[in-house]
Amino acid sequence: MSFAARLEAELEQFKQEGVYKRLNHLEEPQAARTKMEGRGEVVILSSNNYLGLCDEPEVVAAGKRALDQFGAGTGSVRFICGTFTIHRELEQALARFVGCESSLTYVSCWNANEGLVPTLLGEQDIVISDQLNHASIIDAIRLAKTITKCQTAVYRHSDMADLEEKLRGAQAMNARLKLVFTDGVFSMEGDIANLPDIVALARRYGAVVAMDDSHASGVLGRSGRGTAEHYGMLGQVDIITSTLGKALGGAAGGFTAGPGPLADYLTQRSRPQLFSNALPPTVAGSALAAVRHLERHPELVTRLHENARYFREQLRALGFKPLPGNTPIVPVILGETAKAIQMSELLLAQGVFVTGFGYPVVPQGHARIRCQLSAAHTRDDLDFALSAFKHVGRNLGLI
Ligand code: PLP
Repeated sequence: MSFAARLEAELEQFKQEGVYKRLNHLEEPQAARTKMEGRGEVVILSSNNYLGLCDEPEVVAAGKRALDQFGAGTGSVRFICGTFTIHRELEQALARFVGCESSLTYVSCWNANEGLVPTLLGEQDIVISDQLNHASIIDAIRLAKTITKCQTAVYRHSDMADLEEKLRGAQAMNARLKLVFTDGVFSMEGDIANLPDIVALARRYGAVVAMDDSHASGVLGRSGRGTAEHYGMLGQVDIITSTLGKALGGAAGGFTAGPGPLADYLTQRSRPQLFSNALPPTVAGSALAAVRHLERHPELVTRLHENARYFREQLRALGFKPLPGNTPIVPVILGETAKAIQMSELLLAQGVFVTGFGYPVVPQGHARIRCQLSAAHTRDDLDFALSAFKHVGRNLGLI
């Protein structure tokens, strides 16, 4: 069988198992409603455009200005061919925003995580990771283990007794650097890390805390500064990684923030910095405008949470059982992957775009429809979506 024929056969198998993912093409920007090729107008309920900044005129205009001022990009990596002043401006704004002393941008948060763990850890060090951490953290740890032979441990999801046991183990092996890595908000469950206890345990055992705040930046805390602000702990997390590809403009890009020397250290040693280009200036310009816009409009965060609360309550009133929580991620567990995909198809036929997630993104038997709310949704948008959920839920015998 040829290489291409083998790929075709495997793709056919995915289709037969009901786990094949079809890409939907949009003809207009991400917003509460958009135009989907072949479908017309749909309400989007599966975007990380939490604050509605993807098509915010100030954010788009700032991207255009940066494109005009700096051109398409750096043409190479930053230390070789220079970096733009807008990168420095953005990094200063991001560090301030998340309550850290320095920050360094990457072309994605995936890159930021992969650029962090293997750079910080060596053979005498250990990283201790929450079982439900995002794939980019898992892969960053796998990479570090392969490259540097560092030690690794995984604690049960948000189980502080298990984290303490792993920290005790790290102490017993005399690890030089003990790094505890957690998501701020867990993307598939929508729950928030127990940051106060994680930081307290880390202090007790002399560990450093890294937190990926991708689903919390712009989302949690009164002014959207993330999980640390949510708990009144700004400035108490050693390292924060996050994305610019969700609430903060939604284009792409990520960053790592931490103590004063961290950005400089990563500039010297982090391989994606040394061997890959910087953020395109247009993306840096849009992200900077997004942070500034949010600083002037904290009411967006309030609206986002009002929308999430309303949607969750109304789903419950219809008879669905969304996972409890207080973030704008509202998962409805359905069981088998094929069921989640079928529900997503039926909702799309009703004009609601919400993706079904199955194995391997979530464990077998825990497939789900993951709804995500945005400050951009109006009550009309939400009521439209809820009536589609009612229709489809009844047809599938779910409610
Ligand atoms: N970290 C977490 C927790 C995420 O949810 C995501 C995206 O889904 C990422 C990292 C990757 O972000 P990016 O798209 O910037 O690579």
